[in-house]
Amino acid sequence: MGGPYSPELNKLYCRRAKPCLVQVRVGVPPPPGALLRAVAIYKKSEHVAEVVRRCPHHERNGGAGDDGLAPAQHLIQVEGNPQARYHDDETTKRHSVAVPYEPPEVGSDCTTVLYNFMCNSSCMGGMNRRPILAILTLEAPGGQILGRRCFEVRVCACPGRDRKIEEENFRKRGGAKGGAKRALSPPAEAPESSKKRVLNPDQEVFCLQVRGRRRYEMLKEINRALEVSEAMGTPPRPAKGRRPRGEGLLPRCGKKLLLKGGAGDSD
Ligand SMILES: [Zn+2]
Repeated sequence: MGGPYSPELNKLYCRRAKPCLVQVRVGVPPPPGALLRAVAIYKKSEHVAEVVRRCPHHERNGGAGDDGLAPAQHLIQVEGNPQARYHDDETTKRHSVAVPYEPPEVGSDCTTVLYNFMCNSSCMGGMNRRPILAILTLEAPGGQILGRRCFEVRVCACPGRDRKIEEENFRKRGGAKGGAKRALSPPAEAPESSKKRVLNPDQEVFCLQVRGRRRYEMLKEINRALEVSEAMGTPPRPAKGRRPRGEGLLPRCGKKLLLKGGAGDSD
């Protein structure tokens, strides 16, 4: 109990610049050379287009936790892995860090990675109290996405306390049942009339013509981030079995990444 990850909220609570153990489980072993990449995005759609980066203060005065390998602007850093590779995407400008996928140790079904989040969620000029999602993707050597998993992250001074408070608030609200039901139910059955009618404007699909690959890639990235953000913003169904939230996003090529309750923060 009191661990840093809340399965109920699909949210990781951690201290700034303290390693967080994230356990990853894949259904089918990926091909050799596969990478596990982590990127952060803002959870709310009004912020999602903005790149998540460290605040100016911590970027200048990194201090403990900065290992000299990671660029000072990067929020997510990998602890103790000289094979970590930091990447600034040319088109989207987003920061990510990738490590080679390692199969689980004998006797374990999980691969573990230690991540450091190098700013507080409250950092002025950085996250500025805006919630973020960490997205982990398993990539084949050619860049093909084999699996994806996201979870919310809060970086704060008292992760154990904040987790408890937020979980209690969540339960008081009854696990947000009503909202979940609404959001998850498909658009109502088509009416008898054959007239084409959009019942839910959020479900309407548009096609957009975009000139230039760069712009196309950028818009695609923003759209993807919005989809992820929306899916993650959906409150979970009342606990039924142990299906993790956001599972719908996962299966690609039969592989999946699962985040398990980690350790690594003794709060
Ligand atoms: Zn900061």
